[in-house]
Amino acid sequence: MLAVVSTAFPTDWDQKMITIDGSQGEGGGQILRTSLALSLVTGQPFRLEQIRAGRQKPGLLRQHLTAVEAAKTVGAAEVIGAALGSQTLEIRPGAVTPGNYRFAVGTAGSATLVLQTILPPLLTAQGTSTLTLEGGSHNPFAPPFDFLAHCFVPLIRRMGPTIELELRRPGFFPAGGGQFHARIEPVKHLARFDLLERGTVRQRQARAIISKLPTQVADRELAVVREQLGWREDECRVEAVENPVGPGNALLLEMEAEHVTEVFTSFGERGRSAEEVARKAVDGASSWLSAEVPVDEHLADQLLLPMAVAGGGSFRTVKPSLHSTTNATIIQRFLSVEIRFEQETADVWRVVVTDK
Ligand code: ATP
Repeated sequence: MLAVVSTAFPTDWDQKMITIDGSQGEGGGQILRTSLALSLVTGQPFRLEQIRAGRQKPGLLRQHLTAVEAAKTVGAAEVIGAALGSQTLEIRPGAVTPGNYRFAVGTAGSATLVLQTILPPLLTAQGTSTLTLEGGSHNPFAPPFDFLAHCFVPLIRRMGPTIELELRRPGFFPAGGGQFHARIEPVKHLARFDLLERGTVRQRQARAIISKLPTQVADRELAVVREQLGWREDECRVEAVENPVGPGNALLLEMEAEHVTEVFTSFGERGRSAEEVARKAVDGASSWLSAEVPVDEHLADQLLLPMAVAGGGSFRTVKPSLHSTTNATIIQRFLSVEIRFEQETADVWRVVVTDK
């Protein structure tokens, strides 16, 4: 007897299926991650077309595929199109299942973006989860582990859940090999919050992480931080990775203000001097300080989703990026919320999320 292999979900699925054009706005991987996260949160199936059409190498890369597989596992979902290079994906989620999970990207692709995908459904799941995530922990174009641990997650804790993060080993491009652990104790409903003021900066720390690279690289980066930002010697630290897997370097500038901690990062790469690397992070920190807003460009796009799940919230930030506005459009496809970007002055925007 011939086995019939179905290439599409049964037609009754189509009734509730949300169809999303992955080429809209920024046309990147965020459309996928936000759709996966909110499909699990809401139980709504979706079909994503033209995945990452705005990128040089469109379709699912290793990191995106791991995010799809993680969402499939955590959300007991049925999925069509989960393959490397796939530009179309259909997913029908089941029940979000808390548990002990391990997801490995398998390359140096960002493991923090895998967490970004499955954290939202686990924040309001029926029980505690532990996650072991492997891959890159410090990648360009992704939140570095320290940004999650010191900036993003403390804000999510304000919404009610308990989240603990522990970095077991940093992983850099191209060798990867990073690992971190997360423990998530959920709440029934996320609480809304407002982040309109920054307050005074109480503590600052510059950390130059090096993996299999000479200490002088870190020393030269920190010299730029002292010279350009006027930070003291005791606020600057070199951190050499124990048991490194491959070469890597990240300069992290952390500022703890009364109402928020921000982290600005720059990554070492071949052909870029330590001074150039340092200046990029310094420029990010200086712009945030002079803008006098609590939320920088990256935190802005990452706060939208949890605030929307909470049904409300607001924050002050810099001019919204295309990444943020695209993310807002996708969020509004799944949740009945309104996200408004209101310009207050030449450099200050207020982002307001309200229940419809
Ligand atoms: P791709 O299509 O290649 O997957 P993408 O659109 O998913 O790309 P990006 O736009 O580069 O990826 O951003 C991914 C996420 O990483 C965003 O949430 C962004 O805020 C975050 N991010 C990027 N750089 C930083 C940084 N230096 N600090 C904190 N977060 C960052």
